[in-house]
Amino acid sequence: MSFDFQEFRSHFPILYQDIHPKKKLVYFDNAATTQKPISVAQKLDHYMMKVNGNIHRGTHKMAADATKAYEDARDIVVNFMNASSREEVIFTKGTTESINLVAFSLGELCINQGDEIIVSELEHHANIVPWQMLCQRKGAVLRVIPFSDKGELDLDAFASLLNEKTKIVAVNHASNALGTINPISEIIRMGHENGAYVLIDGAQGIAHCEVDVQKLDCDFYAFSGHKIYGPTGTGVLYGKKEILDKMPPFMTGGEMIDTVTFGETTFNVLPYKFEPGTPNYIDVIALGEAVSFVAKYGKPALFEWEHELYCYAMSKLRQIEGMRFFGEADNKVGIISFAIDGIHHFDLGTLLDQLGFAVRTGRLCVDPIMDHYKVQGMTRVSLSPYNTKEEIDQFYNALLRLQQMFL
Ligand code: PLP
Repeated sequence: MSFDFQEFRSHFPILYQDIHPKKKLVYFDNAATTQKPISVAQKLDHYMMKVNGNIHRGTHKMAADATKAYEDARDIVVNFMNASSREEVIFTKGTTESINLVAFSLGELCINQGDEIIVSELEHHANIVPWQMLCQRKGAVLRVIPFSDKGELDLDAFASLLNEKTKIVAVNHASNALGTINPISEIIRMGHENGAYVLIDGAQGIAHCEVDVQKLDCDFYAFSGHKIYGPTGTGVLYGKKEILDKMPPFMTGGEMIDTVTFGETTFNVLPYKFEPGTPNYIDVIALGEAVSFVAKYGKPALFEWEHELYCYAMSKLRQIEGMRFFGEADNKVGIISFAIDGIHHFDLGTLLDQLGFAVRTGRLCVDPIMDHYKVQGMTRVSLSPYNTKEEIDQFYNALLRLQQMFL
């Protein structure tokens, strides 16, 4: 394999620390947030310490330089997702805001009493609640695509849910709890054949899967910067220009306007119509750096290594008696959610932390998935290409050791 994973890892100094005395950090919580490469931290530092001027409005050099860097970050994202124009890439503060923007604004445009919106049983709360609230506001109905115990969406059930009342379909690219990579091309095609708009929640997809929005033909694709090695408080909403043009503004204020009188306001062109107030420009500039960092390695190479780590981890963890795995879809990102007989997930998470392992435990912001499997919570390992097989071996040994304690 040509991908040099040790070189990749070396960009993340946070990974080389003792998190407790004599306990090296093993970071397995990448679906919650990823660590940041040095170049991203340097970008933040540079713009905070040397080039800070409020963008789009200043006449001075720092304002002009920061504006250029912010708009350059947009171009980087446009290329990364293969959007057809820079008007289609809106900066937000994360996936949650991106989805809320669409639920509010597209909801105003196209949802009426009795209309239907389809989500899946595999969604994060961020891709359920905004649609549920929209349904409540408009008297619309929320429909749900079920998944099998294996963790795969039932496309036949999806087909039977689609009808002339369906206006929006919103599903994730990859599940944060089960790791399933959903067949989004198929879902987009089916939604469109039925005349619905389709939004993809790419919070977990963006760092692992190829995303070419023109090829996918999705109407919207949302993601968060912090899940792709960028800063928190940054996110992207891709939307097709012809739809964004028709949608009313979401949040209002400075910068998103063209002219304001007390009688009437006219709005700015895309993408600024959806970027009110002072944007989080320093973090967005660093998001551009994070995206360039990933693009330099290429997602296929990163995914190939992550998949090798995932297969290795599964081969080890399957050897442990009393393990129950949640979601074993054929097509997965490097997420392994499990329970161990006789050990509560909170106890397991706390003890693992004492040994240096950062994992996520609990309901993972996916109550419907917990209800599906009739459990109160899970333990989740989520991998990144900067993880190593040695870390997986250490984790396997730690689980065996903890299991002994509970006998
Ligand atoms: N959607 C999915 C699938 C997620 O995993 C997450 C976060 O974990 C979100 C949406 C929300 O992302 P954020 O909290 O960055 O807005």
